[in-house]
Amino acid sequence: MAAKDYYGVLGVPRDADDAALKRAYRNLARAYHPDRNPGDKKAEDRFKEIGEAYGVLSDPEKRAQYDRFGTVGGGGDPGFGTIFEDLFEGFFGGGDRGRSRSRARRGDDLRYDLEISLEEAALGLETKLQVPRLETCDTCRGSGVEPGSQPETCATCRGQGQVRFSQGFLTVARPCPNCRGEGRIIRNPCASCRGQGRLSRERLLKVTIPAGVEDGNQLRLSGEGESGLLGGSPGDLYVVLHVKPHEIFVRDGAHLICELPLTFPQAALGDEVEVPVLDGVAKLKIPAGTQPGQRLVLRGKGMPHLRGRGRGDAVYEVVVEVPTRLSARQRELLEELRGANDGDSSPRVSKFLERMKQLFGS
Ligand SMILES: [Zn+2]
Ligand SMILES: [Zn+2]
Repeated sequence: MAAKDYYGVLGVPRDADDAALKRAYRNLARAYHPDRNPGDKKAEDRFKEIGEAYGVLSDPEKRAQYDRFGTVGGGGDPGFGTIFEDLFEGFFGGGDRGRSRSRARRGDDLRYDLEISLEEAALGLETKLQVPRLETCDTCRGSGVEPGSQPETCATCRGQGQVRFSQGFLTVARPCPNCRGEGRIIRNPCASCRGQGRLSRERLLKVTIPAGVEDGNQLRLSGEGESGLLGGSPGDLYVVLHVKPHEIFVRDGAHLICELPLTFPQAALGDEVEVPVLDGVAKLKIPAGTQPGQRLVLRGKGMPHLRGRGRGDAVYEVVVEVPTRLSARQRELLEELRGANDGDSSPRVSKFLERMKQLFGS
C-alpha cells in the first residue's frame, strides 16, 4: 500500500487542529460530492480520497500511527464509515436543494369507490369520475406565497428547517419550532390558497375499466391523487370496484351460475329451452333423463378472463319441480305412469327397494 499524503489531500498543515481538519474536509467534500458532479469519475475518486484522509486524520489514534509510520495498519477499511455518514447527514441543509428536498412532501393517495353492474364488469367500461382532490395552487404555483412577495428565511434555524445539537461527531437534528420545519416564514400568504399551496378541486377523470374485473378489484391511477407539497410528487388514485349482485347470475370466478327450473316431463323427456345469458337469451338443450342438481353448461358464455383470453362458462343448475296442484287429467296420467314404472326406468328407486328387502326382509 503506497503511502498517501493525507495532509496534502485535505490541504492542511501537519499540525492542523480538529476544527481546521473538519473545515477543510467539509469544504472539499462539498465541492467533490457526487451529487454535484454527476458522472464525473475523477470527482468521485477525489471525493473518496478526501473521505479516507479525513477518516484517518480525525481519529487521534490513527493519526498518531499515520504520523509515525506514514500509513495506517491493516490496509483495509480505515473505519471512517460512520463518521462519514454522520457528517453528511444534513450536509447540504443550508443549500436550496437540501431544503426543498426535505420539505417537499408526496401527495396523499386517494380512494374512490365505484359501483358497477355485472354486465359492465363483463364488457369493460369507460367512464368519468368526479374526484375531489387537493391540487397545486395556480396563483402561487404551490409556494403558498402571494405573488410579488418573498418568504422570509426563518431566523431561528437560518432557513434549515432544523436545529442541530452536536455531540462529538454525531449531529442530532430536530425540526425547528419557530417555522415548524419549513425553514421559512410567510408574511404574505397567497390569497387563493391561504398559504397552503394547494386548493380543493373537483376533477373529472376518465377511467377505463377492463373487461372481467371482480368485486374488490382496484385500479391504480398513477399520479391522480393529491398534488404534492412544495415540489413533492402527487399521490395515486385507487378506484375500488364494487360489482353489484346480479338478479339471476351468481359469479364463480369467470363462470356464471344460474338456477334452471324444469318440469318433470322436460327433465325426463328432454327439451330445448331458452336460458338467460349476460347479453340476452340463448338456447340450451336439455338431454332426456336430466337429473335434479345436474349442471348444464354453455361454454364461453360466462365472464371474460381479466388476464388472458377467452371466457368462462354459463352454468345452469337443474331444479326439477314436482307438481303440487294437479288437475284430474294430470292425476290420471301420473297414476298411469306409476303403474307402468318398471325397474329399468327408475334404477335408483329399484336399487333402493332391493337393498331394503335385503336388510329388513320386508
Ligand atoms: Zn396559492
Ligand atoms: Zn426555523
